Amino acid sequence: MDDCIFCLIANGTIPADVVWQDERVVAFRDLHPQAPVHILIIPREHYSGMDDDVPPEVHAALCAAAPNVAEAAGVAKSGYRLIVNTGPDAGQSVLHLHVHLLGGAAMSEGMVRLA
Ligand code: AMP
Ligand code: ZN
Repeated sequence: MDDCIFCLIANGTIPADVVWQDERVVAFRDLHPQAPVHILIIPREHYSGMDDDVPPEVHAALCAAAPNVAEAAGVAKSGYRLIVNTGPDAGQSVLHLHVHLLGGAAMSEGMVRLA
């Protein structure tokens, strides 16, 4: 999609700080990090989010990428959290499916702080 920022990153039109990639997935650092390590893992193909009839193999590729991305970012041993925001209540702002990988510091036990 020409007007999707993550499609433009995936095809190299817009630069990003790419940490890891394979034929299905690209992982790059978030522009506004919310943890010392904050990386977005995206499929190369466009899906607007979790609810966009995403093929199981795309979900599998995103999950399978996470340990490799964590290793590349140096947080495989210290640990990390994966988050997929979906829809307005979750605050999804970019309508191209993406997994946030957060780490690099101890996180609070509660996973959610309600707005
Ligand atoms: P979400 O709110 O779950 O849709 O997350 C979108 C994320 O994309 C936010 O954390 C933004 O900081 C991040 N973001 C937006 N544009 C870019 C970009 N060009 N490069 C890297 N991260 C971006
Ligand atoms: Zn896209």
